[in-house]
Amino acid sequence: AATTGSETKPKGRLVVLTGPAGVGKGTVENAMRKKHPSIWMSVSATTRKPRPGEVNGVNYWFMSEDEFAAKEKAGEFLETALVHGLAHYGTPLKPVQEHLAEGVPTVLEIDLQGARRIKERAKELGVDVVYVFIAPPSFDELVRRLKGRGTESEAEVSKRLETAKVELAAEDEFDVTIVNDDVNRAADELWSVIAKEYGL
Ligand code: 5GP
Repeated sequence: AATTGSETKPKGRLVVLTGPAGVGKGTVENAMRKKHPSIWMSVSATTRKPRPGEVNGVNYWFMSEDEFAAKEKAGEFLETALVHGLAHYGTPLKPVQEHLAEGVPTVLEIDLQGARRIKERAKELGVDVVYVFIAPPSFDELVRRLKGRGTESEAEVSKRLETAKVELAAEDEFDVTIVNDDVNRAADELWSVIAKEYGL
């Protein structure tokens, strides 16, 4: 349970989701959020360009390298990482703190480097964290999905596959692994992990 008594404020709890590009994390999260809108998911900052259909403030906060660096210097991020060696990503600190303080189930979808950084900072933040890894049914399936997405150049796809290999090897650093074999099933499993964590 997250509380020690009815008068006690719920302790902040954080769910960190990681999984290789192309694994379908976004689809699983969206399916889960549709069923359980009480979840709050952090919106990251990034220096990469928006993909068609992506909306500023919804998918990401899109910004220049200069703007990102200034915010990082000002301590506005919980964690940051250079992902695929291509672009910077960061979790804005303040909204995470605010939601945790309110006891709202808070989810971060970040890469392996970010998840490791959270592990280092969890104590200082005074939060319990559950680390969830979303895995593909197989590596071949991941390659197929990543290429099939068709939103990235060939060079970007191979960068993402390199990162995916590293991330798949780190699966045992996580508390829970969810295989995305079926979006609805995976979304239900993700919800049950969160619900258990929050005693919902
Ligand atoms: P994409 O560019 O495909 O949206 O995301 C690329 C990778 O960046 C994904 O693995 C995603 O989890 C990761 N990512 C997104 N936001 C953040 C963040 O705030 N911090 C970190 N460390 N990684 C992030």
